[in-house]
Amino acid sequence: MKIDRLEVSSFTVPTEAPESDGTLRWDRTTLVLVETTAGGETGIGYTYAHRAAATLIRDKLAELITERDPLDIPAAWQAMRREVRNLGACGIAAMAISAVDHSLWDLKARLLGLPLVKLLGACRGGMPIYGSGGFTSYDDEQLARQLGGWVDAGISRVKMKVGREPERDPERVRVARQAIGDDAELFVDANSAYDRKQALHFMHWFAGESDVRWIEQPLPPEDRCGMRFLRRHSPPELEITDGEYAWGPADIREMIDADEVDVVMADATRCGGVSGFMKIAALCEAHRLPLSAHCAPLLHLHPGCAAAPLRHAEYFHDHVRIERLFFDGFPDPVDGALHPDPSTPGLGVTFKTADAEPYRDNP
Ligand SMILES: [Mg+2]
Repeated sequence: MKIDRLEVSSFTVPTEAPESDGTLRWDRTTLVLVETTAGGETGIGYTYAHRAAATLIRDKLAELITERDPLDIPAAWQAMRREVRNLGACGIAAMAISAVDHSLWDLKARLLGLPLVKLLGACRGGMPIYGSGGFTSYDDEQLARQLGGWVDAGISRVKMKVGREPERDPERVRVARQAIGDDAELFVDANSAYDRKQALHFMHWFAGESDVRWIEQPLPPEDRCGMRFLRRHSPPELEITDGEYAWGPADIREMIDADEVDVVMADATRCGGVSGFMKIAALCEAHRLPLSAHCAPLLHLHPGCAAAPLRHAEYFHDHVRIERLFFDGFPDPVDGALHPDPSTPGLGVTFKTADAEPYRDNP
């Protein structure tokens, strides 16, 4: 059997209102969709990227994939990584490869008539999630309503953004803690907004005053010395995490070698799709480090139930909204976890073409 066809399209969805974190502002999100067909079945994959990723897939990767055996995903993965050598195998190229890889896994599972989690091999029946949003563009009331709403819905861990106006962070974190009560876990994400001393100051404040359990990306990811410095001086109850900009397993290996995180994050829409994510899971397992999936909750659901060191996955407000709009079959959270449907093959979802059409970008 051969892959007949690979099609790519992109869709841009406005946010409900302009949003921001510690270092970036945005008012729209682009989803790049890949559909790969063989043996009468179509697999879907996607990434959140610039539509340049769609151009790269159309112009460079599509012809590499067609005519291949759809069951031999490692060969396709290696071929794609080789093909982008002169472009740099990170950034847009890594996101493009990730979307194609994901469509190949969905396709293979459908061809074999298995849910993807069964093809990979399950180690848990559901993927624990944490609610993620708490944008710096929210006022205190919006912040409290969103985070408190997740906790009321049975999701007992929530994450908020910090760092845009550091002087306001203690009060915003206090508002969040009050909204979620004493028992829920509170995480903060600085998106590289702090400098070293500032990060250290806030880490001690957050942990001591508001029982914050995890700080994400306090510094730019390339500041490995700074991250090591923070880890050496962090309060023991506060975990440091990073990894959303890992473009493949080698980036995570370097992060682990530098001993800079307590929890590894990885994003299958950036790190090489399901293939890259499962390799990173193996690295984490070998180093006895927990793994947390970054964003795109629907896409992480099946690999998240197959990755042994996975602790939880990010139920990110913007992506939940888009994935519910575009895909039939996105399960509702039950007891703070998402559960794959054992009766449907592949990812267990179908793309709602008509609903997505108004958001389609021009090719
Ligand atoms: Mg983050």
